[in-house]
Amino acid sequence: MEINKLLKKCYYFCFVVVIFIFFACKNQGESILTIDEVESFEAESPFVEDKPMINELGDIPIMMYHGIENIASDETQFVGGNVDKDGYNRTAEAFRKDLDFYYKSGYRMIRLSDYVDGKIDCEEGKSPIVLTFDDGNTNNILIKGFDENGEIIIDENSAVGILEEYKKKYSDFNVTATFFITKKLFRQDGNRKIMKWLIAHGYDIGNHTYEHVNLSKKDIAFAQYDVAMQYEILNSIIGTKFVNIVALPLGQPNTFENPITQSLYEFELNGKTYITKALMKVGWKPERSPFHKSANVKYLMRVRAYDSNGEEFDLSNTFKELEKNRYVSDGDTEKITIKATDKNKLGNTYGLTVEIK
Ligand SMILES: [Zn+2]
Repeated sequence: MEINKLLKKCYYFCFVVVIFIFFACKNQGESILTIDEVESFEAESPFVEDKPMINELGDIPIMMYHGIENIASDETQFVGGNVDKDGYNRTAEAFRKDLDFYYKSGYRMIRLSDYVDGKIDCEEGKSPIVLTFDDGNTNNILIKGFDENGEIIIDENSAVGILEEYKKKYSDFNVTATFFITKKLFRQDGNRKIMKWLIAHGYDIGNHTYEHVNLSKKDIAFAQYDVAMQYEILNSIIGTKFVNIVALPLGQPNTFENPITQSLYEFELNGKTYITKALMKVGWKPERSPFHKSANVKYLMRVRAYDSNGEEFDLSNTFKELEKNRYVSDGDTEKITIKATDKNKLGNTYGLTVEIK
């Protein structure tokens, strides 16, 4: 009897120790989460709730999307919900999966324009992420019709339809995105209403140039005309409510030093001054914190949002890399909190207080 009791106690003790070691290892192990792992995690998982160390000199992903097509991911000829070989266009199913992944991995959206201005408004312990869409594909915001008040009815499987769904699904996600459009706007009837609706509902519209050509093959005069013309179009519809940011068509010119790149930040045309605070190229990795001394917020890299089974800078690869040095917010927009070991990496502080932990 005594021995039996002792054995039972022994088994119980071993069981507790094993469970303890399992959890301790999990906690101390890398906090890298793949899309599948995150999906299998419940929201109440203690690992997800672990508070990461505040790091406001860490990296911030600026995601680049194009079209969102309303087909199932297994209906495309490519992996992971890519509609074309390079994943420029994604299925609605894959886009929803991306959004769930960002949210459950602790990312919260901020506006691109705020990133450029050093305004990182993000809840404490969470990481900022920026969403951008190029080309004004119809399926960025597809209009099904107009209601009795003449308001647009948005297709729920277009990009904005899905973003609106996620506004409701995760109220603290801070859903927003910047749409870069050309003279074709959103390529459908109701373009003007669409643009006004976007501005009124927390989205931004930027300049993807008028003609959408490779500017590195043109001269400075043409490049300036192409940018100015598009600003004029935006201005004629939404006044000054567009963002002064240009997504360079095809990511060209692809160097900051290129004279055409340099010519676009401030120039005069027909007696008017045009100012652009940032140009976007095509990139393959997250950007620096705007407070990092190596950041160049005037010329930004983006991450192509696509899935390539973890290879070639795709989503899971990018977010795995981000775990090494991701921006984690202190929740205070007036203060920059950095690690003591990062003191020499501090760049532009935008006039904010700096706290070293
Ligand atoms: Zn484009």
